[in-house]
Amino acid sequence: MKRFLTCFLTVAVMATSIVFIPNNQVAFASSKKVIVIDPGHGAGGNKGYELQSPDSSITKIKDGGGTEGIATGVPEYAVTLKVSEKLKTLLEQNNYTVIMTKTQASEAPGNIERAEVGNNNNADLVIRIHCDGLDNQSITGASMLVPAPIGYAKDISSISGQYGQTILDDLVATAGMNNRGVVERNDMTGFNWSKVPVVLVEMGFMSNPDEDRLLNDDSYENKLAQGLNNGIVHCLHKWESGWNQNSEGWWYCTDASNGYYYTSNNGWKNIDGQWYIFNEAGYALKSTWYADSTNGHKYYLDSNCMRVKGAKDKPLWLTIDGSYYGFNEEGQLYVSSTTPDGYKVDENGVRSN
Ligand SMILES: [Zn+2]
Repeated sequence: MKRFLTCFLTVAVMATSIVFIPNNQVAFASSKKVIVIDPGHGAGGNKGYELQSPDSSITKIKDGGGTEGIATGVPEYAVTLKVSEKLKTLLEQNNYTVIMTKTQASEAPGNIERAEVGNNNNADLVIRIHCDGLDNQSITGASMLVPAPIGYAKDISSISGQYGQTILDDLVATAGMNNRGVVERNDMTGFNWSKVPVVLVEMGFMSNPDEDRLLNDDSYENKLAQGLNNGIVHCLHKWESGWNQNSEGWWYCTDASNGYYYTSNNGWKNIDGQWYIFNEAGYALKSTWYADSTNGHKYYLDSNCMRVKGAKDKPLWLTIDGSYYGFNEEGQLYVSSTTPDGYKVDENGVRSN
């Protein structure tokens, strides 16, 4: 896009009223990214044993069953599944492919089995969702566990650490809790068997009565999911302020550090003198019609995503799918009228003489 902009310095003066709705949601993704969500624990746990690491002879229990709320009595696996489902919804809205290691509270797969879901799907990120518990009831806050460079995790330890930091920071900023930092662990089976980037979030302490109640509060759980979503988007998408492009098209980033960009919520945007409109996922419409429901006019976006337009009393005529169409100086399609240069157009805007 940039390379075209320098050629078009004319600023179009638009009569159309543009409603600007700020878009503060971090929400963008290419459909090619695969996220595996691993909701921690299952009802009753899993008393089988498995090797802690492919290069170790130590065995560990598959699932000790997790903790439970000191105030609510709710088991950890119920909270982790609920937040996981919310996170799945957000990530899917952002066009990620999401795979769950389990979908039922009763399921309690072992950690190797869970790790293999990430490996087999070549996940861009595995996020394991847990809550903490301690004898000391006063301790609160979230921490992020990441793999040490051992076992299969040798090659993904470093990137997992970076991802873990970003996601934890976003989580804490969004949900508002104590930040207990990133902790590297070499003793976790689910890490040591992972060949793909993996992090484990401890979202708070069910052993603290207040945090336990929060972890079971629907609106707080929404914030947890939003914070995790934001962090994942930040990890997996590097972009610049201004125009960015991937295999699906162009998008326009307004704030690279926060990952903000235009979407259909923002309506028409004038960028360097040209008008653009974006779809829900944030891509600029290209080589396609756009019917603007706010004013009833139809527009056409060309192969550079730019809104085509004529000049005053001198329509721009374009052949689109074999028919002639005329556009005024605001880019609006002439319909059911005679154009200033004397051509009749029908109700679909097709020129008839
Ligand atoms: Zn747990």
